[in-house]
Amino acid sequence: MAYRLTYTDFYAALKEGRLLGLKCRACGGYTVPPRATCQHCGEAELEPAEMSGRGEIRSYTVIHVPPEGFEGPYVVALVELEEGPWLMGNVEGLDLRQPVPDLVGRQVRVGHRVVPPARYTAGEGVAVTFGLV
Ligand SMILES: [Zn+2]
Repeated sequence: MAYRLTYTDFYAALKEGRLLGLKCRACGGYTVPPRATCQHCGEAELEPAEMSGRGEIRSYTVIHVPPEGFEGPYVVALVELEEGPWLMGNVEGLDLRQPVPDLVGRQVRVGHRVVPPARYTAGEGVAVTFGLV
């Protein structure tokens, strides 16, 4: 089975400010992050597609005790993208010394953050982030 969009390409695009997903030829649904088959119908006929990068926070949590190599507190959110799929990432631009306001329903735009190499990673990485609109 051929991967139509690799994580390498997905993260390279993210670093350029573009969100790439996969559009299904069978059902028209979008899949992101990349997978070998459509997350809606299981079909493997997928085409890379540029996505809007816009969405709405559907759920989130504040991490106060981070894993080794990370600094807390930070906010992890599940965002429903305009095209349908849900994507997880950190919400940036919040003053976390203050109580976090209710973020459910807030509009966001996808961004990225370069993550330096850590003890258990294979070098530098790229993470999905969200900025409040
Ligand atoms: Zn499909």
